Amino acid sequence: MNIILLGPPGAGKGTQAKRLEERHGIVQLSTGDMLRAAVAAGTALGREAKAVMDRGELVPDAVIIGMIDERIGSPDCARGFILDGFPRTAAQAEALDAMLARRGLRLDAVVELAVDEAALVERITGRFTCARCGAGYHDRFKPTAVPGVCDRCGGTEFTRRADDNSETVRTRLDAYRTQTAPILPYYRQHGLLHPVDGMAAMDEVAAAIDRVLAAVAPAGDSR
Ligand code: ADP
Ligand code: ADP
Ligand code: ZN
Repeated sequence: MNIILLGPPGAGKGTQAKRLEERHGIVQLSTGDMLRAAVAAGTALGREAKAVMDRGELVPDAVIIGMIDERIGSPDCARGFILDGFPRTAAQAEALDAMLARRGLRLDAVVELAVDEAALVERITGRFTCARCGAGYHDRFKPTAVPGVCDRCGGTEFTRRADDNSETVRTRLDAYRTQTAPILPYYRQHGLLHPVDGMAAMDEVAAAIDRVLAAVAPAGDSR
C-alpha cells in the first residue's frame, strides 16, 4: 500500500505516519526527517538545506526529488510506504508520478489532513521530541506521562525544532498555501484524494485514516 499524507505543517502527518508504520508494516518516508538527518550529519546537502529550513522556505525540488527517488526503490519499501511531507510542489508531484511509473508502482490514496490555521500554530509551537528514540510529544495535547521522562524509552533529553517558532511558522503556512495546496485538485481529479478531519483527537484521526485505507486497499490486497 502506497499512500501520501498531505497537510499543512503541524497537521499531524508525522504522528499518523508513525501509527501507520506500526499497524500496517509500511515505511514512513519523511523528507523533513531526511533533511534534518543531513543537517545533523553536517553533509554538504545539510549545510545548504539548513538556512532554507530555518527561514521556513522550501528546499529546491531537485534536491528533494533525488532524496525520495533514492529511497523509494529500497527493499524496506517493498511492502509499501507513507510519503510524509512530499510532494509539496507541482514539480514534485509530477516527478513522483514518473518515478512510480518507472517502477511499476501506483498510489492507493492521498489522505489530506485538514486543520484550522489557528490550531496549527499552537500545535507547532508546543511540539517536542525525545532526543533518544524520536517519540513525538506536545506540551498540551500529548505531554509525557511523567514530566521530563519519555513514555517510550525513559529518555530525559528532548529537542525542539529550530523552525518551530511563531515567526517561521507564518512563512511555512504561506509556503503550504501557495505551493502545496494547489496540488490537491490534481489528486482529486484522479479520484485519489481523501480529506480527513485533522481537528479531531489523534485516535479519531487514526480511525478515520484506517477507514479510508480499508476502502481503497482491502486486507489481502498486498502489493
Ligand atoms: P512540517 O511537517 O512541520 O511541515 P517537515 O518536517 O515536513 O515540516 O519539513 C521541515 C522543512 O523541511 C520545511 O519547512 C522545508 O524547508 C523542508 N522540506 C521538507 N520536505 C520538503 C519538500 N518536500 N520540499 C521542499 N522542502 C521540504
Ligand atoms: P506534522 O508532521 O504534520 O508537522 P505532527 O505529527 O508533528 O505534525 O504534529 C504536530 C504537533 O501536534 C505534535 O506535537 C503532535 O503531538 C500534535 N498533534 C498531532 N495530532 C494531533 C491531534 N489530532 N490533536 C492534537 N494535537 C495533535
Ligand atoms: Zn524516547
